[in-house]
Amino acid sequence: MKFREKIEGDTDWFKCRCGNEPHSDGFFPCDYDGRIIPPLIDGKWEGHLYVCIRCGRIIEQYTLDVVGVTNEDAAFHNANFDWENY
Ligand SMILES: [Zn+2]
Repeated sequence: MKFREKIEGDTDWFKCRCGNEPHSDGFFPCDYDGRIIPPLIDGKWEGHLYVCIRCGRIIEQYTLDVVGVTNEDAAFHNANFDWENY
């Protein structure tokens, strides 16, 4: 599947095509399937993909390209993500 969408914004501020922005539902670092990746202890994150938690679009941080959409497995993982442990 090939995506040619882009979102608005810059590398510090995303505005997803679904209308989500960082101060509403937000975006989280994720892997290529859209699974949320827990932040590292020191707060750094070496990846460059973010998932829109509202619509599941997977966004490349630097180009703002939509590189995919969260699959069902990953959506389930995200819905049950245990933030308490991080
Ligand atoms: Zn979205």
